[in-house]
Amino acid sequence: MDIFKCKYITHENEEIMGFCLNQNCQNTTQYCYKCLTTTHSDHQKDCIRFSEMNQYIHEFIQIYHQSTKQFKEISKSLQLCFEQILKIKEQDVKNLEKMIQQLQNKEYLVVKSQINIIKKMFTKEKENQIQKQIIYLNEILVTIKNMVTDLTQSSNERISDDEIKNEIKNDIKNEIKNEIKNKIKIKELQDEIQDKKEQKIIECERFFNEGQALQSLNKYEEAIECYDKAIAINPNYDVAWNSKGKLLYYSGLALHKLEIYKDAIQCFDKALNIQITPDRLKNKAYILLQLGMTLEARQLYLAALEKE
Ligand SMILES: [Zn+2]
Ligand SMILES: [Zn+2]
Repeated sequence: MDIFKCKYITHENEEIMGFCLNQNCQNTTQYCYKCLTTTHSDHQKDCIRFSEMNQYIHEFIQIYHQSTKQFKEISKSLQLCFEQILKIKEQDVKNLEKMIQQLQNKEYLVVKSQINIIKKMFTKEKENQIQKQIIYLNEILVTIKNMVTDLTQSSNERISDDEIKNEIKNDIKNEIKNEIKNKIKIKELQDEIQDKKEQKIIECERFFNEGQALQSLNKYEEAIECYDKAIAINPNYDVAWNSKGKLLYYSGLALHKLEIYKDAIQCFDKALNIQITPDRLKNKAYILLQLGMTLEARQLYLAALEKE
């Protein structure tokens, strides 16, 4: 439930306590304890805890119930008034039509008893009155229509379940898309690394084979150079270490035999660190014998025999 953890940096993952109900507040509505003392500090009274929300909502429901009752009463009264008004108007029209008849029948005295109505019409007093009434009623109608618009809008402000569902769906879709993208990237990277590894292995082997070839042609110096190149690319290339070691003491290149033996021992040690084989143990034992270290040489030789 991501939305109930604070997302502000330095208090991310703090527990959300409630909602800020301040209309003018520009911060995220939900707040954690740290938000309360920082981003909402100037209107803490508007920050309502989840537990308090129930009470507020109950109060709002009360207000809605009361006002609905009042609205119904007003609507009923309005309906009654309009019914009366329409009835009277119908009656007025009937009376006027009757007057036409009375005039035709020359019942002048009867007409005279209602002459005030005609006078009012004649002076436009009645007409003006009717116009004013229509204007008033239209004003009331506009007010009521505005109320309906307001109520419709506020019900639209509520996010529907479907909207939330869609939002979550989109989030998941995007996450999956990103995951797939990341997977592709990781695969590409792995492939790249694999390619580089394979290239290195091929290069190492190439130098090693070249070394072997040079060695068979008694070109010891150049052969050692090739083994060095192979080892430089892959310091764990034990075969090259072993070959270099052997070549060092077989070749008899150096004037300073002691130095060569030391280097050869280092090469065999490198090779042995990666993999102990009887032949590598024997190689090191041979050098130790040359150096007069018979006891150590014997131990290595016995270890080699055990492994064979
Ligand atoms: Zn926070
Ligand atoms: Zn706030």
